[in-house]
Amino acid sequence: MRVQGNRLKPVRLRIRGALWTIRFASPQEMGTDWGRCWEKPTNARLIEIRRSLRERDMCNTIIHECLHACVPDLKESTVDEAACVAARALYAAQYRRARGARCVKKKGRKR
Ligand SMILES: [Zn+2]
Repeated sequence: MRVQGNRLKPVRLRIRGALWTIRFASPQEMGTDWGRCWEKPTNARLIEIRRSLRERDMCNTIIHECLHACVPDLKESTVDEAACVAARALYAAQYRRARGARCVKKKGRKR
């Protein structure tokens, strides 16, 4: 199954105290890359994920790029192996992306 169009909204999260944005970019923007983790000249921290990836590959790539953001000194081979293990474990435990998932604030709850 592939994720169609631009249904995936950007996600913002803190990684080691810094605010990061995960955005789902078009294949044209990504070239041959599945994911990127970088800091813009404006100091904005950005993870880009190719939005046309199959769900399982997207899961792996999100984990992979978040590992780079979290522990930038890790070797590529270590990041790759850890991301593959985490993605396999999540899939074995039947975690999947919720259909129509969006980054929407819930109303009426204060926590
Ligand atoms: Zn990498």
